[in-house]
Amino acid sequence: MSSQSIHIAKRRRSEASAGETRCPACGQGHVERVIVSRTYKVEGKRFRVDGLMPDRCNSCGELTWSEAELRRADEALAIKLRDAAA
Ligand SMILES: [Zn+2]
Repeated sequence: MSSQSIHIAKRRRSEASAGETRCPACGQGHVERVIVSRTYKVEGKRFRVDGLMPDRCNSCGELTWSEAELRRADEALAIKLRDAAA
């Protein structure tokens, strides 16, 4: 007989409210999403990628890049490099 466990999603306490994350760098501030531009230097040329959205700590100012954002930045840069080469 298979026991079907029923998990009732426990509601998290309000301390885990969405969009509020402790800074991994200093452990004190909270990070919030910011929109920045990043300039990459490739073979002596500069390429600027706009509209990237890392999280920035409101205490130490450290930028935290998610894997998805880094991938997005990589892809945007790759497109710019391709355009420049064309
Ligand atoms: Zn911090």
